[in-house]
Amino acid sequence: MKTLNGISAAPGIAIGKVYLYNDDAIRVPKYAISKNDVAYERERFDQAAERAAEELESLKSTSSSEMGEERSRFLDSHILMVRDPELQERVSDKLAQELKNVEWVLLQVIEELVEKLDGSSDAYLRERTLDIHDVARRVLNHLLFRERISLADLSDEVVLVAHNLLPSDALGMNKSMVKAIVMDEGGKTSHTAILARAFEIPAVLGLSDITEQVSTGDDMIVDGHKGIVIARPDAETKQRYLATSREWRQREVELLTLNELPAETRDGKLVALMANIEVPEETDSVLSHGADGIGLYRSEFLFLRPGGVSTEDEQYEAYSTVLRAMDGRSVTIRTLDLGGDKVSASMQQVSERNPILGWRAIRYCLAQRVMFVRQLRALLRASTHGDLQIMFPMISGVEELESALEMLEETKESLRSDGIEFNDAIPVGIMIETPSAALTSDILAKRADFFSIGTNDLIQYTIAVDRGNEKIAYLYQPFHPGVLRLIRIIIEHAHGAGIPVSMCGEMAGDPLATVILLGLGLDMYSMSAFTIPEVKRIIRTVTVWEAEELVGTISDMKSYREIDRYVQQWMNERFELFTE
Ligand code: PEP
Ligand code: MG
Repeated sequence: MKTLNGISAAPGIAIGKVYLYNDDAIRVPKYAISKNDVAYERERFDQAAERAAEELESLKSTSSSEMGEERSRFLDSHILMVRDPELQERVSDKLAQELKNVEWVLLQVIEELVEKLDGSSDAYLRERTLDIHDVARRVLNHLLFRERISLADLSDEVVLVAHNLLPSDALGMNKSMVKAIVMDEGGKTSHTAILARAFEIPAVLGLSDITEQVSTGDDMIVDGHKGIVIARPDAETKQRYLATSREWRQREVELLTLNELPAETRDGKLVALMANIEVPEETDSVLSHGADGIGLYRSEFLFLRPGGVSTEDEQYEAYSTVLRAMDGRSVTIRTLDLGGDKVSASMQQVSERNPILGWRAIRYCLAQRVMFVRQLRALLRASTHGDLQIMFPMISGVEELESALEMLEETKESLRSDGIEFNDAIPVGIMIETPSAALTSDILAKRADFFSIGTNDLIQYTIAVDRGNEKIAYLYQPFHPGVLRLIRIIIEHAHGAGIPVSMCGEMAGDPLATVILLGLGLDMYSMSAFTIPEVKRIIRTVTVWEAEELVGTISDMKSYREIDRYVQQWMNERFELFTE
């Protein structure tokens, strides 16, 4: 038995068997064949391709009802690709030309296809390169008798252990089979952690070398509350964790009894508790946790999922589905925040020294006008289906905001001339997630209808600490006086200009921060749906006066350690918190 400490990234307890995901590059042999062997090699290809197609068919039949139409379409497109006569012809021609083994020949054919698509000006075609690689890998696995390695194929319940999963891996995996996620890398606000919380899968990240300490098939306990994993636990430890898990679930159920009650302090101040979502399917969980609406829909995840959407109509459908499901409740959709760790095959590929400080979010959208206008059109068209607000990410100064607003106006004009209906008075807000935006929020407040504080990035940029790097995770401190001062400034400026201010970074869902944010005057909190009941319980137990007093006390403190210690003690005296 071995206990290891990491970063608690998504709560919950899971006990299961390890699946070590090691998506190492396939080593493809290269050897000469004679002319007489060409037919034999071609037959090997046909058999491997057919086995891959059958595998895809069987995945489709076992998962289609559960995973929905989109996944089924995605699998269909792969089946078509693997049986494509043009692919077969190209393989045959190259076998005869090169007189090399079929694995190597297939790789060459794929590289040529990918090169052609990469050079295309059509984003849809460029996106297909990922699919082609995926299909080729499936066929190569059969040619080389390798074990299947796609996470979409998981068919047994596992604790998924990996060095680093990208958000696109997490979106593509068969979620119903993943009991927990455990990684060498990653921090609490990395996007894989955010997805784990959205999918309600317990996760412990930042364990450094867990992939070297366990093997596939090992027993493992994952305690997402404390950020602990226990490899090869003894029977007694397993029993203890089963009991804790039951206790936690019971507490969750108890908290759900607050669903119908408002988030109102003892002295009558009402705040809104909203949910963050990444995929439209989350709306059920949003409603079942009693959210007042959606405060952040990260629309870029539509582009990151396998077979992801990108056309105007596909986006319009996704946004309208969310608005209809929310049935009149407020929904804030953030325009694409691609770039950084959220890279999609449809993006213009550039190699950047500092992607997190680079061509991402609104900067990328303002440069990719066709893509941006497509999204703005889809959003405006969807605005007739509910209470929609648009929000721009990563605004660093007023020029960017003005350019984005100008593009929105132009898009409205073109819809008008096409005779398409939309809500002309749609509120448009911005995320405040850079220190420059925080410090000029008085200027920005004159041009925005609302603010939402993105603390995940605001903390990263204020303290200059990469939010996904486990080695410096100790520096990532929401209670750093520098961060708290910026939050205070943003709220004061917003209220000075008469606009509401929300927070949609992970800090908004951290029970330890709830009272401080209330004391600072936050109007709206937006968080992973399942944390709403706990935050509501805290809000309903305190008064604004108490919260302001707490803020007054910590404002004089000099370090995050001092503030953290004081707040922990203050909260522990009043509430029994389950986490950490
Ligand atoms: C944030 O930065 O706080 C935020 C909500 O955006 P994201 O986590 O997607 O960067
Ligand atoms: Mg952000």
